[in-house]
Amino acid sequence: MPVSWVEIALLLVGGLLGWYATRRWRIGQAPPSVRTPSRDYLAGLNFLVNEQPDRAVEAFLRAVAVDSDTVETHFALGALFRRRGEVDRAIRVHQNLIARDDLDPAYREQATYALAQDYLRAGLLDRAEKLLLQLSEAGTYRLVALKDLVRVYEIQRDWDRAIATHRDMAKVTNPLQPQAVAHYYCELAEAARANGDFEAARSHLRAARGDQRRFPRGALIRADVALDLGDAEMAIRLLKRVLLQQPSLAFEVLPRLVKALRAAGREKELDAVLGDLAAQAPEVAGALAYAAIVSGELDSPVLLALSREYANAEPAVAEMIEALWPKGTPLDDAALRRVGGALRRQALRNPRFRCGECGFSSTTFFWQCPGCKTWDGLRPLEPRDLAGPLPMSRAR
Ligand SMILES: [Zn+2]
Repeated sequence: MPVSWVEIALLLVGGLLGWYATRRWRIGQAPPSVRTPSRDYLAGLNFLVNEQPDRAVEAFLRAVAVDSDTVETHFALGALFRRRGEVDRAIRVHQNLIARDDLDPAYREQATYALAQDYLRAGLLDRAEKLLLQLSEAGTYRLVALKDLVRVYEIQRDWDRAIATHRDMAKVTNPLQPQAVAHYYCELAEAARANGDFEAARSHLRAARGDQRRFPRGALIRADVALDLGDAEMAIRLLKRVLLQQPSLAFEVLPRLVKALRAAGREKELDAVLGDLAAQAPEVAGALAYAAIVSGELDSPVLLALSREYANAEPAVAEMIEALWPKGTPLDDAALRRVGGALRRQALRNPRFRCGECGFSSTTFFWQCPGCKTWDGLRPLEPRDLAGPLPMSRAR
């Protein structure tokens, strides 16, 4: 993509103003030696105007060797290239700045951070990590470098390093996502569980609990491990707790709860258990009904009753029912199953989860939003959202 005219004009004006500023002197002061921008600098601008960015870069790189006043222009140029996705050029500009022996230490730090950003953008994570580690020791860029490092380790799924770096960051500032560390432990626990190493999984889960006492994701994995190890009663206790603590996770809890009751030989108690949970809070009843509709889990009388109540209370669904059945007609079980089936198909076709931070929407649930990287950002959509289009969302 070529550099746009507006951006070139801004660079030109910025560069020439800087050059002009060095020529100004006050009355009564001895005039400084009048300086002109170097030939290479002007040649660089000329190449830019003529949309020859590679020759422009060459000329600028020569110019910086003789004129430190153009350093700011180099930063502007590097940032411009990176923003436009011309990362190779951005890297060359910043590498050559760093290679200068006489570069001011503050500029060197700035150039190092800029180069790390170029590497991140290019997906060269190892190189970015090396520079960010340097910058995270001390100095102006310490905090942003730590934040970027956490991101690098998240991408690499290097959860041990992510934990250590997040902890370092917490020493410098209050992290925006304090629960991230507990999620990292949960990632480790899930990996250990997948390898059949239940002892390690439990140890990671203990660490997650040590970091965040009431942590629903941790409790869900503990329930999974308990089921793996044949302790269905423990799994049932944990799942009930998760549902009461965070009803919006009903879609995760319900299938596990059905499985755990079956494993405990208590499948006949499903209705009693669900009825008891639903009676404890209206949000729990609504979330269970929605989870039942979406999972197609409408065999239990309690779930069917909850879903009926829920369907009647949801304006979008109630309208649909009224259109199909004469007003006042009670919705029988068969009709409710059909409504549930229609809602389910609608739900599975469209994104079912949306991030409260950035609006990213998805058919799959993620603990970390793939759009803005916020942990616990995604929430299930309501049936009324399923009926209409999703504004400002990126479906995946
Ligand atoms: Zn998001």
